[in-house]
Amino acid sequence: MKRIVAGLLLTGLALPAFSQTADSLMTLAHKLARVGLESGRAYSDLKDLLKIGPRMTGTARADSAVEWAVRKMRSYEFDYVWKQPVEVPRWSRGRKEVAVAKVHWKTDTLSVTALGYSERTPGGGVEDTVVMVRSLAELDSIGRGVESKIVFFNGEFDKGLINTFQAYGQAAQQRGRGPALASYYGAVGAIVRSMTAVSDDNPRTGMTQFPDSIAPIPCVAVSPVDADRLASKFGGEKPVRLMIDLRSKKDDPVISNNVIAELTGTDFPTEIILVGAHLDSWDLSVGAHDNGAGSVQVIEVLRLLRQIEYKPKHSIRGVLFMAEEMGGIGGIEYARMATWNNEKHIAAIESDRGGFTPRGFSIQADEAKVQKYQSWAKYFEHIGADKLVKGYGGVDIGPLGDTGTQLFGFLPDSHRYFDYHHSAMDTIDNVNERELELGAVAMAIFVILLDQYGVQ
Ligand SMILES: [Zn+2]
Repeated sequence: MKRIVAGLLLTGLALPAFSQTADSLMTLAHKLARVGLESGRAYSDLKDLLKIGPRMTGTARADSAVEWAVRKMRSYEFDYVWKQPVEVPRWSRGRKEVAVAKVHWKTDTLSVTALGYSERTPGGGVEDTVVMVRSLAELDSIGRGVESKIVFFNGEFDKGLINTFQAYGQAAQQRGRGPALASYYGAVGAIVRSMTAVSDDNPRTGMTQFPDSIAPIPCVAVSPVDADRLASKFGGEKPVRLMIDLRSKKDDPVISNNVIAELTGTDFPTEIILVGAHLDSWDLSVGAHDNGAGSVQVIEVLRLLRQIEYKPKHSIRGVLFMAEEMGGIGGIEYARMATWNNEKHIAAIESDRGGFTPRGFSIQADEAKVQKYQSWAKYFEHIGADKLVKGYGGVDIGPLGDTGTQLFGFLPDSHRYFDYHHSAMDTIDNVNERELELGAVAMAIFVILLDQYGVQ
């Protein structure tokens, strides 16, 4: 078998559809790394995609990205390529975003950016006394004490944690839920420390949620450096005041699209293995890592399988989801339609942690199942992506998990992701070509293993 496969690889003929031996799979895993590094297209596709600009949900540029993805997938001659309509919200930050700290007669303009779904301020802005807290629990303990005031959430990103996503998960609570909690207690505005381990002048945006029962208030993210400056103003005799002036606005929802490509399976065409990433980005940059990288990797996984002439037994779907940043809306709609169409998704892999050096995959399952997948680690050792651990799949594939799909998250190295995340720094010059291509290779290997061995 090994010799046959090696011969087929050399002659470039199609691989047979029957199960591969462990040896031939290992050969395939090594071949994929060489092919990806020598002639991968993820990086050139990313440069191409980013020419469109930021792909903020509900904008003309997001629509251009959808059309770009359709054209790109068709150019690679995947079996099927189609768009799936999704109703998406529209929110824009407007031109003016100002926050000025005031202590007595001294003023200090801070580097801020509005959080997604922030309310605009009345003309002239809002100005009031600032109350600093470091957690939602601390705000709860103050309660109505923040009424008619502005809440400053200054909880820090825990730099001591090795996994930056764990630090983000902890700190992001104050961005996601903090402004709504502040509004609940009567605050008129909120300012939130940016979630990153670096100390720079870039504010990081992101979505904040206001449940229907809670009035949205103006809220901004402040750069790490200016969060420290604002914090340093406390402790004196004079109160710290803040003026926030925002022109953000919400418009009526519009129809956008998820973009889907498929390589149809030979033996089990109705059983789907999905690789997905979100196509939308924030508006402060082109979203090179978040999530242009994942988007082009999804396309590249299918293209790599085509290039090595791998014939999948199950159908392999690449899905680019819309509106993840605005609430995982494309993922919810995809799962809803999958249920409606009675589709069977046996597994889903999401890439939404940047285009960095692949380290492995997180497996959203119990320990016993995780241990079974760990026997696959040998197929990733040559690219250093053999860390197969229990963990989270991803926002966009999450709703599929509710219908019984086995979920996996692609895990690249996490140390630099939050240096750029949701900031003006998320640009192509911070993406390394080899790292990006190897990420797609890792996912292609994972897809082949799922196709050959099935879910465990
Ligand atoms: Zn993302």
